[in-house]
Amino acid sequence: MSAPSGLPVFPGTVDAAGRPATLGVMGGGQLGRMFVHAAQRLGYFTAVLDADPHSPAGLVSHHHIQTGYSDAQGLAQLADLCAAITTEFENVPSAALNTLAVRRPVAPGAAAVAIAQDRIQEKSHFTASAGVAGVTCAPYAVIASPEQLQAVPADLLPGILKTARMGYDGKGQARVKNAAELAAAWAELKQVPCVLEKLLPLKAECSVIVARGWDGDIVSFPPQLNLHVDGILAVTEVYEGNMPLALAARAQEATKAIANHIGYVGVLCVEFFVIDDGSEHGALVVNEMAPRPHNSGHYTMDACDVSQFDLQVHAMAGLPLPAPRQHSPAIMLNLLGDLWFDAAGQPRTPDWQAVLALPGAHLHLYGKTDARPGRKMGHLTFTGADVASVKATARQAARILGLPGFESAQ
Ligand code: ADP
Ligand code: MG
Repeated sequence: MSAPSGLPVFPGTVDAAGRPATLGVMGGGQLGRMFVHAAQRLGYFTAVLDADPHSPAGLVSHHHIQTGYSDAQGLAQLADLCAAITTEFENVPSAALNTLAVRRPVAPGAAAVAIAQDRIQEKSHFTASAGVAGVTCAPYAVIASPEQLQAVPADLLPGILKTARMGYDGKGQARVKNAAELAAAWAELKQVPCVLEKLLPLKAECSVIVARGWDGDIVSFPPQLNLHVDGILAVTEVYEGNMPLALAARAQEATKAIANHIGYVGVLCVEFFVIDDGSEHGALVVNEMAPRPHNSGHYTMDACDVSQFDLQVHAMAGLPLPAPRQHSPAIMLNLLGDLWFDAAGQPRTPDWQAVLALPGAHLHLYGKTDARPGRKMGHLTFTGADVASVKATARQAARILGLPGFESAQ
């Protein structure tokens, strides 16, 4: 696809009506906030559409349109203000993106976002692109009717039942051992459309982030090794040797193929499982994709010469996409709201004094004043001269903060 008219949008320019070059984002969460920071550093003005007056991105943007995603006036205002628009939230209604796209370049487009919103469509896409990607998804069955429930093949059990839509951070999922548990779990999920996936023997999980331009140019970050605790990303480790080289190369190629297959424009993250198939290093299985920057790519802000948010800005604005270079090994620790409470459940401030004294510590807090257990409040990235020292400081920070999961990642 060639760039739509109006692109590239150069930063620091002013249009015929005297308005500064402004980039817009649907959604005001932390991903939007980090996008806004990247766009502003380049010299763009920004606009955020999010109904929450305290949204992390809205708080730092030049413009904050406080309406719902489908509000006609809000969308018109966003299109009035912005020369190009992106999204930071994958559940933005695709109709809203289509509405915006009538007037402005929108990346990623509604069709790509719609695929990522629905596990049934997502799995069809992975299956369709498996030939070129060289990687397919877990064996699965769609369960949207009692007949489909009855017809589930026995070899998909034990499995994980996942709602087709709106699941995230392990929500909307149930592990089931047999047909009776499956039926009960589907009833518990109110019989909404679901997929049942075979439970796979995971050795590890990883993700790859690519940025693809309007002209099809595509660049990639190195694969990130991810550890989840209770369904939420806890630790990301990125350095040479974080996973077997052959698997790393295959994951990068597969991600590019998945993006190319749908003519994706923008930043895309694809998550993979490394499963134990009896071979030395295991095999890759594609899990899911996010049509936006990703939590596992936050280290790119501190450990790479361009971040995932910089590339999001470049891709949407039609600027060139430089290949990113990681200049330091990195370990990222997610900071959930749990850290803001002591063992007795009393509110506290995490020990920043001790954490910020550690070499190579980069603390990012998202401007959320209301800590709740499980809520993503910020992250902490460690960089350093070598992998051993980065691991040592990250481990120290985990100990200071009482972070779960990190020790088991070593
Ligand atoms: P979410 O949208 O909540 O991130 P995922 O599909 O990525 O949903 O599942 C969350 C986590 O559950 C994964 O990161 C992985 O640890 C585990 N998981 C998901 N599917 C499977 C599977 N088929 N086999 C084994 N573990 C799985
Ligand atoms: Mg996931």
